[in-house]
Amino acid sequence: MNERKCIGCGGVNVIKSLHQRKCIGCGQLKDRQGLIRITRRNPNGDAVINRDTKTFGRSVYLCYNNQCIEAAFKKNRLAKALRTSVPDDLKGQLLNELRTD
Ligand SMILES: [Zn+2]
Repeated sequence: MNERKCIGCGGVNVIKSLHQRKCIGCGQLKDRQGLIRITRRNPNGDAVINRDTKTFGRSVYLCYNNQCIEAAFKKNRLAKALRTSVPDDLKGQLLNELRTD
């Protein structure tokens, strides 16, 4: 948690926005831990599911649900957000992520 204390009143504010990311499926802000992260791997630029956050690159986030995954693949939204081509099997991989809970 990111907490900041006011020196005037001593009240502690939790800065939530730093930990929240926007799902590209439904557009809602959610806690980063509750989202699937997909990163464009450099230099070859293919999109991968980023489980360990060790892969650096342009990233997008998706909720752990079917609707958001479907929405991300409609109108090529995921490919556009990552500015790269998305492998055909990525959707299957994402749907598999839902079952590993
Ligand atoms: Zn969503």
